[in-house]
Amino acid sequence: MSKIARRQFIQLSAVAAAGCLVRPGQEARADDVPHLSEDDPTAQGLKYVNKSTTDGQTCANCALVQGADGDEWRPCQIFPGKAVNAAGWCSVWAPKA
Ligand code: SF4
Repeated sequence: MSKIARRQFIQLSAVAAAGCLVRPGQEARADDVPHLSEDDPTAQGLKYVNKSTTDGQTCANCALVQGADGDEWRPCQIFPGKAVNAAGWCSVWAPKA
């Protein structure tokens, strides 16, 4: 590979890598991120479950959930980079104001 070709390859690689980064100011969409597993150590620590057994308390009506109402999997402020189930629950649940 010539020096110029190598330089172009490196420049294109840098542009491609930058394009993969989440752009600041854009909220993560639930379908962009992996689903939170009940086996995740942080999830276990906060007693997260995909299906709430606590009357009237679900991720869908928690103050910390993000994303769009009606979506099955939604981002949560407590588990950055993961989506929680709208029917789920964890011990940090707080009512919406
Ligand atoms: Fe669900 Fe807990 Fe996140 Fe609230 S804080 S949305 S209950 S995982």
